[in-house]
Amino acid sequence: MYGNWGRFLRVNLSTGEVKVEEYDEELAKKWLGSRGLAIYLLLKEMDPKVDPLSPENKLIIAPGPLSGTSAPTGGRYNVVTKSPATGFITMSNSGGYFGAELKFAGWDAIVVEGKAEKPVYIYVKDDDVEIRDASHIWGKLVSETEETIRKEIGSKRLRIASIGPAGENLVKFAAVMNDGHRAAGRAGVGAVMGSKNLKAIAVEGSKTVPVADKQKFMLTVREKINKLRNDPVAGGGLPKFGTAVLVNIINENGLYPTRNFQTGVYEHAYEQSGEAMAAKYLIRNQPCYACPIGCGRVNKLPTVGVTEGPEYESTWALGANLGINDLASIIEANHMCDELGLDTISTGGTLATAMELYEKGFIKDEELGDAPPFRWGNTEVLHYYIDKLARREGFGDKLAEGGYRLAESYGHPEYSMSVKKLELPAYDPRGAEGHGLGYATNNRGGCHIKNYMISPEILGYPYKMDPHDVSDDKVKMLILFQDLSALIDAAGLCLFTTFGLGADDYRDMLNAALGWDLSTEDYLKIGERIWNAERIFNLKAGLDPERDDSLPKRFLEEPMPEGPNKGHVVRLKEMLPRYYKLRGWTEDGRVPKEKAEELGIGEFL
Ligand code: SF4
Repeated sequence: MYGNWGRFLRVNLSTGEVKVEEYDEELAKKWLGSRGLAIYLLLKEMDPKVDPLSPENKLIIAPGPLSGTSAPTGGRYNVVTKSPATGFITMSNSGGYFGAELKFAGWDAIVVEGKAEKPVYIYVKDDDVEIRDASHIWGKLVSETEETIRKEIGSKRLRIASIGPAGENLVKFAAVMNDGHRAAGRAGVGAVMGSKNLKAIAVEGSKTVPVADKQKFMLTVREKINKLRNDPVAGGGLPKFGTAVLVNIINENGLYPTRNFQTGVYEHAYEQSGEAMAAKYLIRNQPCYACPIGCGRVNKLPTVGVTEGPEYESTWALGANLGINDLASIIEANHMCDELGLDTISTGGTLATAMELYEKGFIKDEELGDAPPFRWGNTEVLHYYIDKLARREGFGDKLAEGGYRLAESYGHPEYSMSVKKLELPAYDPRGAEGHGLGYATNNRGGCHIKNYMISPEILGYPYKMDPHDVSDDKVKMLILFQDLSALIDAAGLCLFTTFGLGADDYRDMLNAALGWDLSTEDYLKIGERIWNAERIFNLKAGLDPERDDSLPKRFLEEPMPEGPNKGHVVRLKEMLPRYYKLRGWTEDGRVPKEKAEELGIGEFL
C-alpha cells in the first residue's frame, strides 16, 4: 500500500497490552485514513452510548495518507473520540510536526483503550512501543512536560503530544497539545486523554512514507504549491498577518462577535488585528510541517517571552468576545491556555457566558468573593480564571464544565452561545446564514472549520455568495464544504489549503501518492461517507435532531442590532428541512437505510 502503511497500534492502558493490527487497501479506498479510518473503527468497535470519560471510550490519534509526505501542509493528524463536552463524536485536528513523525514511525493510527492505574506516557520509536511511568510529570505544564520527556529520552527528533493540568482535571474543553503550541483543541479530547491517565505520547520515526509514483507526485506537489503561493490569501494575507488577518475583514462585514455575540461590530477591532500584531509583537512566522503558507505567529512579549499564537479564533475569543482590546493581555492569555492545555475558543466562550450572566445579575459578587468580577473588558478575568478553571479551583470548577452547563446552572442556558453544548467560534451567523446552518448541522457541534461557509459568503471562495441567500444553492454549497472538509481531514492536510486549491487538486495529489485512479466524485463520496458515518454515530449516541440541530435563541429571534447585518436573524427553519432532503436523509434528520447502503455503511445502522 502507498501513503498509508496499512497498520495501526492498539494500546490498552488497562492491561498494558500493545498490539499491531493491519488493514487492507479496500478499506483505505473506502475511508482514506485519519478521520475516516477513526470513525470506521469507532462504529465497528465501540458503543456510541459509552460515558466519554470512562475506560470504554476510545481515543484515536491518526495522521492521514498524505501526512509525512511533501504534499503542502501534509503534517496534520486528527484526535477522534466521543466528546465529554457534547456527548457526540469529535475529530479535533492539529498541525505542527507530531502527525508527520507518527507516519515516519510507520503508523497510520494509535488506538488508545482502557485506563492506566497511574499516570503514564507512551513512547513510540518506530516499531518499539513502551508504556512509561508519568507520575513525575503529572501536574506539569505542557512546556515542562515536553522538556522532561525530551531530557529523559535524549532524542532531538522526538515529537510530543500531551495534556496540561486542564486535561488531567477533566476540564470539558481541555485540548491535546503538540509541539508546544499546536492544539487538537475542540470538544475536550484532552479530558478523554486525562481520563485514561495518559499524560503524553512521544514519537520518533526513521521511515519514509512510500508514494506510488515519486516523479508524478513531486510534479503534482510542485504545481499545487505554486497555486497556493499565487493565491492572495494563502500566499499573501495568511503568511503576512496570520489568520488574525480576518479580524478587520470580519468586523467590517459586521459579523465579528462582540461581548458574547451581543453585536457583530467591535469598536476596537483594529487594535487586536493581525496587522497590529505584526507591527508590535511578531518576530517570525511558524509553519507546520511541509507548509508553504506558514500562518503560525511567533510573538515576543516582556511578560511571557517568546511564544506562539494567537491565531484569529483565539484573538477573538480572548478579546472582542469579552470586550477586551489589550493585545498584550490576549497574547498572554493565549500562552496560558497553551501551557495549561485548554481550547481557547471554549475558554473565551465560557468566560463570555459568565460575563453576560454577571451583567444580567445572575452571577453575584457575593458568590465570587475576592475573585475578579466578570465585567466586560476586565483583563484580570483572563489571568485569574484561566488558571482557576484549568485547576478546577473555586469558581473555576463551574467554568470547567463549559459555558452551556454554567448558564444552565443559573437557569438560563440561552446565554451560552453554543451548539450541541460546544462554544461557537468567531463568526456571528446573523451575518452569514449558510455558516449558521453549518453550525447547526456540524457533527461536532459549534464549529466553523468543518463547514467554512465564510469562504463563499464573505471571502468569495470559490466564488462570492450573498451571505443572506438561503436558497438550495447555498445549502448545496454547505454540503459540498462539509464533505470536502471531511476528505481533507482524512487525507492529512490543512483546511487552509482550500484558499488556492479545489477538489480536483486533492484528487491529483491523492492519486499520485496512493497509486489510485479515483475521480473527484469518488473522493467526495469518501467525504460524504465519513460525514454520514459520524451522523450515525451521533444518532446512536442519542442525538435528537429537533433539539440538537439548532442555534442559540439569540440568532433566531434577536435581530443584529447594528452594522451591515442590522435587522438580520438566521432563517434556520427555512434551510434545515432542505438540508436534510439534499443530504438524502429523512424529514426528521435521520440517515435512512437506502442512503446508508448507497454509501456502503448499512452495517452501522
Ligand atoms: S496553513 Fe497554518 S495551520 Fe495550516 S499547516 Fe500551514 S502553518 Fe499550519
